[in-house]
Amino acid sequence: MEDCIFCKIIKGKIPCFKVYEDDRVLSFADINPISQGHTLIIPKRHAENIWEVTAEEIAAIHTASKKIAHAMKEALKPDGIAFLQLNGRGVNQLVMHYHLHLIPRAAGGPEIPMTNWELKPGDMKVIQETAQKISAAVK
Ligand code: 5GP
Ligand code: ZN
Repeated sequence: MEDCIFCKIIKGKIPCFKVYEDDRVLSFADINPISQGHTLIIPKRHAENIWEVTAEEIAAIHTASKKIAHAMKEALKPDGIAFLQLNGRGVNQLVMHYHLHLIPRAAGGPEIPMTNWELKPGDMKVIQETAQKISAAVK
């Protein structure tokens, strides 16, 4: 897509620090890292979000994520790696080309905001009704 930053990276019009590439996906360092080693994986075809990406592309991204997670474990020896994937402006997706974040965290390093929410028991009736509503819409 013409004015998509990540499509420009795929075409080599904008530089990136490449981590991994195959025929379906490209992986590169995030330039605003939440932690050292913060890496993105994207499909080579422009797809905005989870509703546009194909199942095959998701499979390719997650196959690559396993390779990269192994590499991160060896290279950075993190205490853990968070996977994050945002869909839509409502959850602050900033770049509208599907991407999976791999965010390693070193032992003793700062907390990753999305990984330390407080566990508060919900309303079981609302939880059940909502789960049923989603389940009924599964195709
Ligand atoms: P999200 O859309 O999930 O909120 O995050 C988009 C991510 O893309 C951000 O973490 C941001 O730092 C990263 N990003 C935005 N523009 C560029 C760029 O030109 N190069 C790279 N490597 N990362 C970028
Ligand atoms: Zn794109």
